[in-house]
Amino acid sequence: MNEHQAELLADEVLAAFGQSKPPILFEPIAAEEGIELVEGDFGDEFQGRIEFLQEVRTFAVYHPKITTSRYPPRVRFSIAHEFGHYYIPEHREMLLHGIVHNSLDAFRHQNQMEREADAFAAALLVPSQVLKARMGRRGFLSLQQILRLAEDCQASAQATAFRYTRFTAEPHLAIISEKGLILHYFVSDEAGAIGFAGLGNVQVPAESATMRTANNCNARIEEGASQTERWFSDRQARANLWEEAMRLGSSDRIITLLSWVDYHEET
Ligand SMILES: [Zn+2]
Repeated sequence: MNEHQAELLADEVLAAFGQSKPPILFEPIAAEEGIELVEGDFGDEFQGRIEFLQEVRTFAVYHPKITTSRYPPRVRFSIAHEFGHYYIPEHREMLLHGIVHNSLDAFRHQNQMEREADAFAAALLVPSQVLKARMGRRGFLSLQQILRLAEDCQASAQATAFRYTRFTAEPHLAIISEKGLILHYFVSDEAGAIGFAGLGNVQVPAESATMRTANNCNARIEEGASQTERWFSDRQARANLWEEAMRLGSSDRIITLLSWVDYHEET
């Protein structure tokens, strides 16, 4: 199952349960499907797990308590991810048969399954319909608008930004960095299509809104003009960018959005 199919599946589930307004509620879905939501204190490292309980022929999703969690959006993402394992037919088959992975191949396969469940989770928490409506005819969201969307969806800023990046038809990147080092990033399909699939660089450019954010402690959005050659190691093509950056909570992590300033789709 690819990312787009996972998104369509999430769309179907939301339509079936008449959930069109954020935040998406898990309880009605679980109740209808007969999934048991089991919240509890399973230790700091525990994020979530789904099991098929053979004796009672029931699925159970175990997750940390949302109300006492340090970061509720993360718990919500975990529950949505476990729902992905329930709804993606191949995953559900494996759960029903109690299949356990332990070979290397299975490990790779498991990574693929995790990515599929993550794609489903992002699309369940931040629904396509909501994104479309917010993007409107402009087809674009600023960092400020993404933060508002994240709040409304009770999803993390990072998950919402990544979801937007994979959803938009425009060239766009969402980057997470820490102390000037790029940790990971998501690229939109269009950015890939016009030759900007990978940053190449591992360091945040010295002259950038992201670096200014790294060097101060406030929570506001820094923004400014930039160019692709500052961010990308490959300089075959160039374009003017608009950069927005913000610290994630009180952490050292910074989220950066890169948008193409004078992008016009070639038709
Ligand atoms: Zn999983």
